[in-house]
Amino acid sequence: MDDSLSPPDAPEGRHESVWFPTSDRTDYGPLDGDRTFDTAVVGGGIAGITTAAKLDEAGQTVAVLERDRILGGTTGHTTAKVTSLHGLVYDTLIDNFGAEKARQYAAANQAAVDDIAATVDRRDIDCGFGRAPAYTYAKTDAERAEIRAEVNAARRLGLPASYVEETDIPYEVDSAVRFDEQAYFHPRQYLLDLASDVAAGDSAVFEETTVDDVADGTPCRVETDRGTVRADDVVVASHFPVVDDALYYTRMRPKRSYVVAVRLASDPPSGLYYHAGEPYFSVRPHATDDSLVLLGGQNHRTGHGDSTEARYRRLERQARDRFDVASIEYRWATQDYVSVDTVPFVGKAAPQLSNVYVATGFGGWGMTSGTAAGRALADEILERESAHCDVFDPNRFKPVASTSDFLSHNTETMKHYVEDYLGSQPSLEDVDLDPGDAGVYEADDDPVAVYRDDDGELHARSAVCPHKGCLVSWNDGERSWDCPCHGSRFDVDGEVLDTPAVHGLDDVSLPDGPDS
Ligand SMILES: Cc1cc2nc3c(=O)[nH]c(=O)nc-3n(C[C@H](O)[C@H](O)[C@H](O)COP(=O)(O)OP(=O)(O)OC[C@H]3O[C@@H](n4cnc5c(N)ncnc54)[C@H](O)[C@@H]3O)c2cc1C
Repeated sequence: MDDSLSPPDAPEGRHESVWFPTSDRTDYGPLDGDRTFDTAVVGGGIAGITTAAKLDEAGQTVAVLERDRILGGTTGHTTAKVTSLHGLVYDTLIDNFGAEKARQYAAANQAAVDDIAATVDRRDIDCGFGRAPAYTYAKTDAERAEIRAEVNAARRLGLPASYVEETDIPYEVDSAVRFDEQAYFHPRQYLLDLASDVAAGDSAVFEETTVDDVADGTPCRVETDRGTVRADDVVVASHFPVVDDALYYTRMRPKRSYVVAVRLASDPPSGLYYHAGEPYFSVRPHATDDSLVLLGGQNHRTGHGDSTEARYRRLERQARDRFDVASIEYRWATQDYVSVDTVPFVGKAAPQLSNVYVATGFGGWGMTSGTAAGRALADEILERESAHCDVFDPNRFKPVASTSDFLSHNTETMKHYVEDYLGSQPSLEDVDLDPGDAGVYEADDDPVAVYRDDDGELHARSAVCPHKGCLVSWNDGERSWDCPCHGSRFDVDGEVLDTPAVHGLDDVSLPDGPDS
């Protein structure tokens, strides 16, 4: 799409996820010294909170350890379609993994839809939960064969799939896979309710507590900046695992996407829609506000590609081209990790670890996959019988299915290591930034990330990502420094916004000069 057509002013809409102003903020205290629990859960997103709630309900003592505020990560920025229809996945899964493992994936995700519905009902959670059909649609007859193949594959796996050519979306669609009785909800309202129970008894939720390291053992030790937690089992649900003995960084890539919440002048569609081809586009009604619709799109690998602000404008333009938009109310962006074979990693974190588990790589479908992970990990820790889910085994390696994605991910990554960049950045002495601008410069042979804020003040940090030593790049849509290798993100003062980095960008001192 030609960006020269974009309006020159800032994109429309409040720059915040719609889920925050419509739910309570949390204020759980940090860990205060050393404590012992049955299980420690690292990370308060859907995977962590669901796991913790299931273990707590079963009578365990659980500590949730959250770096910032719970449900402020990707889960607080999702579009929260609750469905086992994940784009076009089942036909490929059967090809790559065989029918038995594809059936496990299908059953785990469909069971997760029903688990959320049952939990909302049982606990009477006020979270705008609604049932709706989900669609993955084709726009051209060339894509129709894939739709038919997906319907056949999904039906073979026992999913509620049908082939349709009629939908209630207001633009032309050629054909679609339809799954009946799928759902949507307000993710924060749902999960805040679960978290409040975890925090109420002998279990605990600790916020503003960063986990630095996890040591396997009997018990395991979870080291944080506030003290040590000892626990029989540890679940690492920090989006990207803070424990990376199994080299997840070589097996997952970060995918960033954009969302606008728009108020329509006409009735919104009632279904959940997803166009898996390029350009990806997703649509769902808001949970509690009838005339709001959430539209998602413009995905790209984190730290790659053109201006992220331009991506908001393109999404806005797509919204206006396709819907009768009265106003754009909110806009935000977030990211998820996609595994090289597109299947999440849920289970023992590495072959040599006995009591440490991971849940990651949800590939844009964590509402059901994160819930399925919580169910599976709680069953494993409690030694309860559960449906067999070895399709999610984090220690699998499927050479045929994964090799080309594995190679392309790691080749892309290698282009961004710092040593390849030294000498190619302008010198810091040449810095001439207008307010709002940023760039990577070189000072004393070190790369420095420099941003001038709207008041004219310069913010400078090392431009080297502390995770694996790649050079960060500027994200003008969010005003952040993003790592193109593995997706770590930092604010202009170097604080961590997104994993895998655990620590921020190093301080640097600017040489004296008129600008510093
Ligand atoms: C634009 C977009 C739209 C999406 N829409 C859908 C959808 O419609 N349906 C769907 O099923 N899925 C969707 N997804 C995917 C889904 O939102 C994610 O898969 C899911 O929210 C990930 O949950 P999580 O618990 O793994 O991670 P998070 O929600 O990110 O939680 C991880 C938590 O760990 C904490 N943490 C990190 N490091 C540490 C540390 N060192 N110590 C302590 N805590 C730490 C973080 O602060 C964070 O709170 C979407 C994703 C994107 C990007």
